[in-house]
Amino acid sequence: MNEDIRELYQQMIMDHNKNPRNFHAMADADRTAEGYNPLCGDHFKVYVKMEGEIIKDISFDGSGCAISKSSASMMTAALKGKTRAEAKALFEEVHKMLSRGIGEPFDAAKVGKLATFCGVCEFPSRVKCATLPWHTLLEGLDPTGKQVTTE
Ligand code: ZN
Repeated sequence: MNEDIRELYQQMIMDHNKNPRNFHAMADADRTAEGYNPLCGDHFKVYVKMEGEIIKDISFDGSGCAISKSSASMMTAALKGKTRAEAKALFEEVHKMLSRGIGEPFDAAKVGKLATFCGVCEFPSRVKCATLPWHTLLEGLDPTGKQVTTE
């Protein structure tokens, strides 16, 4: 990866960690789910307000490392106004990007701003931090009643 881009991505992660977007509880949420990453200590709750199939509003609270918190922040920013199906499709692309081999390409056009996390694939233990908010959201969208944990 180009060093300038790497630097920019690191700054974006630090910015979202320091000033997370949509970082608050939502009293009138239709759906909520909690997720844990015991390896790192990340613990978040995701709140969603649906209008039919559309994610009308989405927020989160909790605590975790810079990767998990900024991933949750950017996820909520990316998904507001999207449909449930679009959210799932986006996670599939993000997951592909995060779990690809080091040096392998990914489709940046399909992940948009979430390309910020493309370097995380070099740190396998951090992939769980980045995907935790997504797994938590999916449980909120389609509840299975199972506890969301990365283990
Ligand atoms: Zn973490």
